[in-house]
Amino acid sequence: MTIDVEQVKRAHPIADVIAAQGVALRRTGRRFMGRCPFHEDDRPSLVVYTDTQSFHCFGCGASGDVIDFVRRSHDLNFREAIDHLGGLPRLSSPPHRTVATRERPRPLSLDDRLILTAACELYHEALLRTPRALAYLEARGVPRWLARRARLGFSDGSELAPYLKRRRLSLRRAGELGLLYGDGREAMRGRIVIPDLRSGYCAWMTGRAFQGDIRAKYLGLALPRPLLGYEGVRGRRRIFVTEGPFDWLTLTGWGLPACALLGTQPGRGVERLLDRAHSVVLVLDTDDAGRAAAAALTESLGDRTLVLRLPGDAKDVSELGARPGGREAFFRALAAAEARVGSVEREEARHVAPSR
Ligand SMILES: [Zn+2]
Repeated sequence: MTIDVEQVKRAHPIADVIAAQGVALRRTGRRFMGRCPFHEDDRPSLVVYTDTQSFHCFGCGASGDVIDFVRRSHDLNFREAIDHLGGLPRLSSPPHRTVATRERPRPLSLDDRLILTAACELYHEALLRTPRALAYLEARGVPRWLARRARLGFSDGSELAPYLKRRRLSLRRAGELGLLYGDGREAMRGRIVIPDLRSGYCAWMTGRAFQGDIRAKYLGLALPRPLLGYEGVRGRRRIFVTEGPFDWLTLTGWGLPACALLGTQPGRGVERLLDRAHSVVLVLDTDDAGRAAAAALTESLGDRTLVLRLPGDAKDVSELGARPGGREAFFRALAAAEARVGSVEREEARHVAPSR
């Protein structure tokens, strides 16, 4: 069978494919900018050109078309990348509309939830018997109890298809969800898996590559990104919001009610969820993208928002937490920020009171 490459590219606008993989893209004119998944990118170095349907990273030099992006992200050959794209839902809306905004999520079917939960449990068991994965978590300051509670996992890449088959769950659907490639290989292979749990089910997951892995740092499923961990904090008076999954794990490990944006661009519906909390503490990264996201969220959420500036030169709270004394430094900074807000509120009350 001959492949119409141009048709594949037309059916899969590059910005959508990149955004679906968890890269937050911000539009600037006819381009999108985002943090490059192929290197440790502190600034948005990745440019996505809609007119030529191509990408280029000014940090590491990675470049190409949508097929190159998929090949590189998933470590696939050309044919496998075409198959991978063919397994994704086709995007039929015109390019100027199919941007990085997340579409309204279609509710997961019961079968979807069973497949995702089966994968999550399989990966969790694998994590607990994989020294390399446990050592990685330990190095990043994630204690074993938290790994169990959050059902963190690891994919060794060989077990999912046979396991789903034994459970009589659909491999085809597992492929559509982004768990399996056409040849049965696992998308999450060799990655630490962080699931989003809802009502005892796994509803989404992302995989973190180990240090030194040439693939994309994070790989999410072919589903809209959730506010990671939101179920655990729903109804709480005060919610802490982080960027990345490991920042979320750090705060959760410290007993704080936290959830993660999974990037710097809150998806549709995320602000509505945060709006329900009485107060929101933003613990975002200390780079430009993190600061811009904090400013934007503060503007939309208003007075209830407290932006916590991390002490020292840590780029995020996960890095801070892994340092000696990091946890204490965090809580000191939090107390100081709260005291500042408290004194401003008292001051405002004094000015307002006489006129009433
Ligand atoms: Zn790069």
